Amino acid sequence: MQFSELGLSAQLLQAVAEQGYQSPTPIQAQAIPVILQGRDVLAGAQTGTGKTAGFTLPLLQLLQQQAIPQKPRPVRVLILTPTRELAMQVYESVKTYGKHLPFFAEAIFGGVSVLPQIQNLKRGTDIVIATPGRLLDLIQQKHLDLSRVEYLVLDEADRMLDMGFIRDIRKVIGFLPKKRQNLLFSATYAPEISQLAEQLLTNPVEISVAKRNAAAETVSQLVYGLKREYKRELLSYLIGNGNWQQVLIFVRTKHGADRLCKQLIQDGIRCAALHGDKSQGARVRALDAFKDGSITALVATDIAARGLDIDQLPHVVNYDLPQVAEDYVHRIGRTGRAGADGQAISLVDPEEAYLLAAIEKLLKREIPRVADTGYEKVSLDNVNSKPKPKPQQPRSAQRTRPGNHATSPGKQSTPARKSNYSRTNSR
Ligand code: AMP
Repeated sequence: MQFSELGLSAQLLQAVAEQGYQSPTPIQAQAIPVILQGRDVLAGAQTGTGKTAGFTLPLLQLLQQQAIPQKPRPVRVLILTPTRELAMQVYESVKTYGKHLPFFAEAIFGGVSVLPQIQNLKRGTDIVIATPGRLLDLIQQKHLDLSRVEYLVLDEADRMLDMGFIRDIRKVIGFLPKKRQNLLFSATYAPEISQLAEQLLTNPVEISVAKRNAAAETVSQLVYGLKREYKRELLSYLIGNGNWQQVLIFVRTKHGADRLCKQLIQDGIRCAALHGDKSQGARVRALDAFKDGSITALVATDIAARGLDIDQLPHVVNYDLPQVAEDYVHRIGRTGRAGADGQAISLVDPEEAYLLAAIEKLLKREIPRVADTGYEKVSLDNVNSKPKPKPQQPRSAQRTRPGNHATSPGKQSTPARKSNYSRTNSR
């Protein structure tokens, strides 16, 4: 299948060619024609499948097919995203794919000054990409009129529901005209998504490019079972010994992200933390540094990392397992992107065994265990044990950390370490 067979305009085909895309991804091949036909769509697609171009290209084409309304231009496309990072990425995609077309787009999200956003909206814009909270503020303050929206996209709808945006979404929809085309993208199909789809979509075409609730096939997954106190040291060792150039590390809390990042820096690993307490500027800097290779590791919470568009990320580490099993699928969706291989490693302590069991239940398969982690063997079989409060790391252990794992794994707690960590076995 070629892009030229999808019915896209010359300007869009040119933009796609300039991106170097050879052929449409499966979600693009399926979604673009039906969106161009004006149908509502319910699409199951993770980040990394090319879903953004899958809805952006046909929407730009639909705008292009109509006469441009008089000034000030009304908003005709509204794209809702769960996070500001995703809003920015979608905005960049709209600019990239629409660069040969005469449309304006605006990104609206919280955490930054509202004034420039208000100024830009005054000039009139065709496409708004927004997180629900800031969008509602601007609607309610009458800075934004959505009464002429023709196309609504809910991107990563499952995450928006997880983040408690359902009421905001319903309110926003209340400001839209009844007659419009709706596109709903979601990585997973929780019952709430089906319910929302039923209310929002009219006779939708259903598209699914990944198996429901299945992790991306190109990602190899491994579990290292070990005591929590060794996690950081093993992580530093894996990064150094494997000469990893780019790794996204997930932790449960903002505080945990900051702490782990500091520790990795002590181990000689260039690192930044990404979480909700960071300013927008700090987040953008961290992400840019990660993308351009000036840092090796990005330590992030789930919410901060959601929807990050980082191409072909080779390594994802679950330093803490997610509390919600679906988040595991989202997390490892950062890697193995657009057909490239990726590796997702989970460092699991016995108290997280119940979380691992929930993930494997969702995936309907067992994730292979590394037989010899180089540390004291632990059992991950006690899935019914009640989680206890997380033990603090002993201070003495922090002081005796080895300097740089890139060359020297620590002596104290790595008695049986082997250099080959790729051996795995199933339980
Ligand atoms: P997304 O799933 O929308 O976040 O896109 C994931 C990545 O795939 C982005 O970096 C896109 O630039 C890239 N991409 C999108 N469409 C294609 C394509 N047809 N061929 C190759 N890469 C693509």
